[in-house]
Amino acid sequence: MDAFQPTPPEWTQRAKHALQFCCPTCGASAYDAQRVWLNRRAPVMSEDYQRKWQEFYDCECGTAWWAWSSDRPPSDLTREDS
Ligand SMILES: [Zn+2]
Repeated sequence: MDAFQPTPPEWTQRAKHALQFCCPTCGASAYDAQRVWLNRRAPVMSEDYQRKWQEFYDCECGTAWWAWSSDRPPSDLTREDS
């Protein structure tokens, strides 16, 4: 799996927008998702002038969902210092 592949995987097309940073159906954490894809090619500017992008998650319960990267709780898993 490549979370940074340039083209959106098929499953992201049925993703719902999650207002909390977890699965809107079962509440599972993003870190339990089976697949992840980050839409890094289309960042937008947030209200405080930080770049943010859509992060797509495919939950084990079968729900695909996405949320803004700026809403993600801090974690070492997807930190992008480089
Ligand atoms: Zn779920």
